[in-house]
Amino acid sequence: MGEKPLSAKVEQIVHMVGGTGETSYAKNSIVQAKVILKAKPIVEEAIREVYRTLFPMKFVAADLGCSSGPNTFLVISEIISVIHDLSRRLDISHESEIQIFLNDLPGNDFNNIFRSLMDYKKQIKEDKGENVVPFYVAGSPGSFYTRLFPSKSVHFFHSSYSQMWLSQVPRMVDDESTFDELKKENLYSEQFKEDFSTFLKLRSKELIFGGRMVLTIAGRVNNSEYKDSFYMLGLLRLALNDMISEGLARKADRNAINFPYYAPTIEELKSIIDQKEGFFYLDNVETFESSWDPFEDELNNLQPDYILRGKIVVKYIQAAVEPLLNVHFDKETIANLFFRYAKIITTHLTEKPKWVNFVLVLKLRGRMQLKAC
Ligand code: SAH
Repeated sequence: MGEKPLSAKVEQIVHMVGGTGETSYAKNSIVQAKVILKAKPIVEEAIREVYRTLFPMKFVAADLGCSSGPNTFLVISEIISVIHDLSRRLDISHESEIQIFLNDLPGNDFNNIFRSLMDYKKQIKEDKGENVVPFYVAGSPGSFYTRLFPSKSVHFFHSSYSQMWLSQVPRMVDDESTFDELKKENLYSEQFKEDFSTFLKLRSKELIFGGRMVLTIAGRVNNSEYKDSFYMLGLLRLALNDMISEGLARKADRNAINFPYYAPTIEELKSIIDQKEGFFYLDNVETFESSWDPFEDELNNLQPDYILRGKIVVKYIQAAVEPLLNVHFDKETIANLFFRYAKIITTHLTEKPKWVNFVLVLKLRGRMQLKAC
């Protein structure tokens, strides 16, 4: 296989592992869930500000790169909760309504989300009461590097852990001669710049003036204390090299693990947002850390079983990249690759590696600034 370079078909094959099985994203997204919970106060404050500025009777929100599983519902709940509480406090609950669009690429397991929606509605009525603010959830499949919504139709955009996924593997990276890691990183950085600029431009057309966009991005800092997710994925290369040297994979297979993924620095993000023809300005940015091992904090002083911890870490990476590998490798090769990858990850875990996250709150530039009451 591998006739076409990965770059040619990213939109068709990027998605997390669907369903609710052991290897699914739904079961292996605790790292991302923790990130959503950390960003929650910022997200809630941004929604409150929009609400108090515009008092929309119909609040339109979109979650971009929603995936499928508990995290999708965590975000929906945040939106409903804030609007519900605010509208009740302002005594206008009977007039408010919420429209929530869930966006992801077409390969995403939307069916799984919609199958859980009835139960979710029941549960939210138990939590908030029968007169919970009415909400309507709709799927919106497509790439967020294309237009997704009509002009000026969305009050609030949310996206967590998604903009690191590029529209394509940078073209030259698939070239066997591009072995220089630094050169490779530059190509990735350029691709991110292009994609993130496109993303901002498109959303600026769709966002209502006075609205907000909150993006949580797994990033990097140029400091050896941190080992970012891009680095972490790069370790798969070591596992593959082992297999190549044992004759279990071909050199040409190396292209298959150049993923369309990049973790930017805050400087890169700021310079893209601040471009001369930029559409947004950065109203606020918060930074926090994530450990590779999602349960590291809970382990306290216990002597961890690093082999087990390594397997846990590998599971969430696998839930994200396996669909990309399936295009190229057979099941046995993938199993072998992750088996070796787990060993490599394990050797790193003793250093308690971590990366940084950036939560960006963006507002539209221009015109007079609207003020929240
Ligand atoms: N927001 C969820 C999922 C993060 S995983 C959470 O925090 O748990 C990243 C998601 O972004 C995946 O579901 C992936 O399919 C989606 N994604 C990647 N590129 C995309 C694109 N161009 N357009 C829309 N969704 C995309």
